[in-house]
Amino acid sequence: MPEGRDTDATRPTPLPGVPDVYRLLVASLTDYAVIVLDVDGIVRSWNPGAQQIKGYRADEIIGRSFEAFYTPESLAVGHPARELERAAATGRYDEEGWRVRKDGGRFWAHIVLTALFDADGDLVGFGKVTRDLTERKHAEEQLANTLALLRDTALTDALTGLANRRAWDDGLAREIARARRAATPLCVGAMDLDNFKAMNDTQGHGAGDRFLRRTSAAWRTALRGGDLLARMGGEEFAVALPECELDAAAAVGDRFRVLTPDGQSCSVGVAQWDGHESADDLLQRADRALYRAKNGGRDRTERDVAGPVGG
Ligand code: GH3
Ligand code: MG
Ligand code: MG
Repeated sequence: MPEGRDTDATRPTPLPGVPDVYRLLVASLTDYAVIVLDVDGIVRSWNPGAQQIKGYRADEIIGRSFEAFYTPESLAVGHPARELERAAATGRYDEEGWRVRKDGGRFWAHIVLTALFDADGDLVGFGKVTRDLTERKHAEEQLANTLALLRDTALTDALTGLANRRAWDDGLAREIARARRAATPLCVGAMDLDNFKAMNDTQGHGAGDRFLRRTSAAWRTALRGGDLLARMGGEEFAVALPECELDAAAAVGDRFRVLTPDGQSCSVGVAQWDGHESADDLLQRADRALYRAKNGGRDRTERDVAGPVGG
C-alpha cells in the first residue's frame, strides 16, 4: 500500500515498524486525534479521532503541513514551528490553546507532541495527540463568570449599585493599610438624608427608592477614581477619601449636600484617620460628627475634632 495515500479515514496509514495492534488501537480512537508528523511538520498519518475533531478526511490532510490547524494569530508568531523545536529539544511538548477546524471553527485543544527518534537516536518525526476540551473550557468560563457575578452581587448594594457594607469593610481596611504604608492622609465621611421618612410617607416607598438611586448617581460625580462610596443601609451612606485632608473631606461633604436632588438636604460628618485607630473607630468618629450635624439643625457638614473614640 502506498504510504500516506490512504483514502479510508477509518484505516490508519501504515507506518513502517508499527505493529498491527497499535494501528488498530489508534484506528479505534474517536475522542483523540492521534497523528504522526514528519520532522517538518507534514501530516503523515491520520485517525478517526483526528477526522472527528478537526474535520479533515485523511486524503484531504495527509501530505499537508500541520500549520493548517493553527489560528492566524499563532501562525503570525511562528508558534507551530516553536512547538516542534521544543518537542525535539526536550522530547515532549504539551499545551492548551485554540485550534482551527477544517470549517474554520475554533476548538480549545489540549495537545501533546512527542518527538520520535529512530534506533540511531535521529529525529524521524513527531507523534501528536489532541483532545477537544471546548466543552470543558466553556463550562469553566461559565463557572468563572458565575463566580464573578456572585462576588459582585455579594459586594454590591442591590438598590443603588454602590458598594455595600461588606465591600465597605473590605475597602476601608485596605485604604487604612495603604495610608499606613504610604503615610498619606485618609478621611471618612458619614452621610444621612434629612427627614427622609417624611418623603417616604408623602411620596411613597417607590419614590423613596428612586430618590436613593438618583442621589447615589449624583454623589458619584463628586468623587475621584480611588474614592469609595457605600450604602450602609437605609438612607445612610459612607465615603472613604484616600489622600485627602479633613478640610478637603468637608468640601466633598458640602458637594454631596449641593448635589442631593430635588432640594432635599443631607447631613454629613467627616473625620480624618489619626494614624493608629481601627476602621470602626474612624467611622464612629465620622458618625459622631454626623450626629452633631443633625443636632445642629441638619443640612450641614461637621468635622470630628474631638479626638479618639473613647478619649
Ligand atoms: P433624620 O433627618 O433624623 O435622619 O430623619 P429621617 O426621617 O431621615 O430618619 P429616620 O432614621 O427616622 O428615618 C429613616 C427613614 O428612611 C425610614 C424610612 O422611611 C426610610 N428608609 C430607610 N431605608 C429605606 C429604603 O431602602 N427605601 C426607602 N424608600 N426608604 C427607606
Ligand atoms: Mg438614618
Ligand atoms: Mg435620615
